[in-house]
Amino acid sequence: MITATQIRRAFLDYFVANGHAEVASSSLVPREDPSLLFTNAGMVQFKKVFLGQDKRDYSRAATSQKCLRVGGKHNDLENVGRTARHHTFFEMLGNFSFGDYFKEEAIRLAWGFLTDELKLPKEKLYATVFRDDDEAIGLWKKIAGVPAERIFRLGEKDNFWSMGDTGPCGPCSEILIDQGEHMSCGPNCGIGQCDCDRFLEIWNLVFMQYDQIAPGNRVSLPRPSIDTGMGLERVSGVCQGVYSNFDSDLFSPIIAATADLAGVKYKTDEDTDTALRVIADHCRSMVFLVADSILPSNEGRGYVLRRLIRRAFRFGRLMGLKDPFLHRVCPTVVDVMGVQYPEVVEGMDFMTRVVREEEERFSDTLDKGLDILEQEMAAARAANSSVISGEAAFKLYDTYGFPLDIITDVAGKQGFSVDEEGYKACMGEQKARAKKAWKGSGETDLAGQFKKLLETGLKSRFTGYEALSGESRVV
Ligand code: ATP
Ligand code: MG
Ligand code: MG
Ligand code: MG
Repeated sequence: MITATQIRRAFLDYFVANGHAEVASSSLVPREDPSLLFTNAGMVQFKKVFLGQDKRDYSRAATSQKCLRVGGKHNDLENVGRTARHHTFFEMLGNFSFGDYFKEEAIRLAWGFLTDELKLPKEKLYATVFRDDDEAIGLWKKIAGVPAERIFRLGEKDNFWSMGDTGPCGPCSEILIDQGEHMSCGPNCGIGQCDCDRFLEIWNLVFMQYDQIAPGNRVSLPRPSIDTGMGLERVSGVCQGVYSNFDSDLFSPIIAATADLAGVKYKTDEDTDTALRVIADHCRSMVFLVADSILPSNEGRGYVLRRLIRRAFRFGRLMGLKDPFLHRVCPTVVDVMGVQYPEVVEGMDFMTRVVREEEERFSDTLDKGLDILEQEMAAARAANSSVISGEAAFKLYDTYGFPLDIITDVAGKQGFSVDEEGYKACMGEQKARAKKAWKGSGETDLAGQFKKLLETGLKSRFTGYEALSGESRVV
């Protein structure tokens, strides 16, 4: 069996052999880019190169990039556990051309890697193109010999890629693999028709041509370029002959470690399985977020980390795990990922401590909050309603530290929805009150965060303002 580590290495070696510079992953926290909460694709570290504002001493590059898709344009939090292919944290393998090669070479290289190096079966591979991109269709036929019936034209949603509301973008062409009839979601299953995992999207080739300056305002890039992204977890699952990323060797040790702690077996009960998958997913995110200097907090990036830890902890509770346990799963993540990312090995002691402290903080209030939520649901039921009020949800957040997604998870499972508008209104009011009461200099975040670091004895990890710069935007 080919391991994920071998696939990652084979990918980088293949592109180096084809004239690309191997470039290290950048941080999950994008540098100098307030438009983005987290790095959500391989191209993020090259954004300015595409825009012609920065020059490198190479015009072709290949990376294995750490990505996080929670919040912003690309948000997969709700997909985790629901599909077999989405994670919050994942690795994107990518090759890039900065005004060097364009469509033809991008297709040739991608096809060569999948079919010559990884030996994926050609007859199971499909291509999609953006609407009337006849040129790409012609290239798929000419270079790869993909027949017309396995090439699909899709619209903006699938085949026009952009990193966010602004920034480099362009039409794209994707490679999908048919995982087989047994994965079908029903009679309407098909490319561009459903969102199931049968036709699994593995690789996106973006033909970077524009800069989206503002909504409705797009200009051409100085030079047409290439940006591609292939999920390592997906391609590993495919190459390892499993039908879920969670069964690949990137996840199975983490799931096994969690199952062990909980005294359960994976694949015996649907709810337990979901919990194990969510926990494995979120543990990877925690490890990498802390390694990139994010700490749990009530705002911005720190709040995303807090939500992930609390959400994972609550899923543990569903399996009967009462005591803090996530920090005991994290070292397995380091075992799996340390080979490529030395920062998680270096940061391991610090990270387990941060996670444990956050778990402890939350475990004190979890039961109480769950009781209150039960009472709210009982009261709603008695009043013939299936909605949890915004005020109740906000109180759970404010007093018991329940992020909204936990409330919607728990309530949703029992058929209740949450008045999110009402919740946001309460949040807005509280923010307005806090602002009114604040008489300081406007440096609250930095000073407060630094103080917190000192108080909790974490100052040895202080890495300058880089650690704090993430607090500027709320999800
Ligand atoms: P999907 O349609 O499955 O949500 P996407 O079109 O949003 O994927 P892209 O933005 O094209 O994904 O990203 C490039 C590649 O990165 C995808 O083809 C896939 O292999 C991988 N990828 C994207 N999102 C995730 C995720 N949440 N978890 C794991 N891999 C992902
Ligand atoms: Mg997506
Ligand atoms: Mg897609
Ligand atoms: Mg895509």
